[in-house]
Amino acid sequence: MSADLSGETFDVAVVGGGIHGAGALQAAAAAGFRALLLEEREPAAGTSSRSSKLIHGGLRYLETFQLGLVKESLAERATLLRIAPSLVKLVPFHIPVYRDTSRRPWKIRAGLTLYGLLGGLAPDARFERVPRSDWASLDGLATDGLDAVFRYFDGQTDDAALVRAVIASAESLGARALTRRRFAGASLEGETWEVRYVEGAEVRIARARTIVNAAGPWIEDVRSRIDPRPPGIEIELVGGAHVEIEGSVERGIYYAEAPADRRAVFVMPWKGRTLVGTTETPYRGDPAAVKPTAGEIEYLQTTFERYFPGRASAVSASWAGLRVLPRDGRTPFLRRRETRLVCDDERAPRIVSIYGGKLTAYRATAEKAIALAARGLPQRKTLADTRTLAIG
Ligand SMILES: Cc1cc2nc3c(=O)[nH]c(=O)nc-3n(C[C@H](O)[C@H](O)[C@H](O)COP(=O)(O)OP(=O)(O)OC[C@H]3O[C@@H](n4cnc5c(N)ncnc54)[C@H](O)[C@@H]3O)c2cc1C
Repeated sequence: MSADLSGETFDVAVVGGGIHGAGALQAAAAAGFRALLLEEREPAAGTSSRSSKLIHGGLRYLETFQLGLVKESLAERATLLRIAPSLVKLVPFHIPVYRDTSRRPWKIRAGLTLYGLLGGLAPDARFERVPRSDWASLDGLATDGLDAVFRYFDGQTDDAALVRAVIASAESLGARALTRRRFAGASLEGETWEVRYVEGAEVRIARARTIVNAAGPWIEDVRSRIDPRPPGIEIELVGGAHVEIEGSVERGIYYAEAPADRRAVFVMPWKGRTLVGTTETPYRGDPAAVKPTAGEIEYLQTTFERYFPGRASAVSASWAGLRVLPRDGRTPFLRRRETRLVCDDERAPRIVSIYGGKLTAYRATAEKAIALAARGLPQRKTLADTRTLAIG
């Protein structure tokens, strides 16, 4: 259906219908702003349907001392478990430790203790050592050289369904979400942006007081289409591949260590199959064309075979998504994962760009982005609080 928006002025125009765009739309609508979202394809067509689907603090970020990130993510996990119980579930995670595993049992125990503390010692922050007598029930996990298995809990979701539910929530608060509309550019006309978007063969216009650039891996393309060009940061795109294997592990998620380079790899039940991911490979080129390399598929399959030697390991599907990481000298694995919000004017922003981020922390990120945008917007009457608004 074609939408004539030329007569309206929105407070916020969000570009990108991934989890950050969806969250920004919902946060804006909840704050009472007139909000519009433009998505080139379908909701979650980009990274937000290619994640590992974990709503988690990120145990492995403790190794790089990203304590603030882990704490915020665990708080968001608790919020999502409360407001989206049909979409976010707690799942048992297992960490097997073999004789040759680099992270020793004391280190895992220390990490899980800190993880529990950062999670506010909630009942779901408990962990245990799985008794040897139960190892045989762990989906055929290799027991040769196995020293210990730890079990703790974290969240799993359907990432694309979460995006759709957050957009639906925003719409129920009066926001407009337009899919199959490509943002083509924006220019400042006096106090408002003239936003151009492509609908079918037509270029249409909408007007907005602020823009939120939530285009994920396309963030720089969107930024380059805005006049005057807003500030940005140097980024690197890092591809992360998953493979899908026939047959499902049943007892939860496994946290494996890839034999090739000791990186963490997850083995997860997913819609009757098993997902194994991810890799971290710097990527250049069109974000829409990202796909796993043969080497990445082999790396994930080999890791799965090392941990589950008795199970069929034929790969039935594979795909990749792109992380947006600030450029610095470190390898992707050691790179900081905090989200960066970049705006043109701290006192009264006309544009806020969301760089990086995690699915888990989308709500907190979106609230911060809209709080920043609100500095330059008229006062509106708050309609809802996203910390308590049920989704799904
Ligand atoms: C492999 C991998 C695994 C991950 N696993 C996890 C995990 O388990 N847990 C976790 O918390 N986080 C995880 N993350 C991080 C998380 O997935 C991302 O931070 C999040 O999905 C990014 O969402 P986004 O909305 O910023 O970008 P995207 O989801 O990519 O959305 C951007 C959208 O913008 C649209 N767009 C682009 N250009 C235009 C235009 N010109 N006009 C209109 N629309 C446009 C695109 O079509 C796309 O839909 C993972 C990331 C990767 C890469």
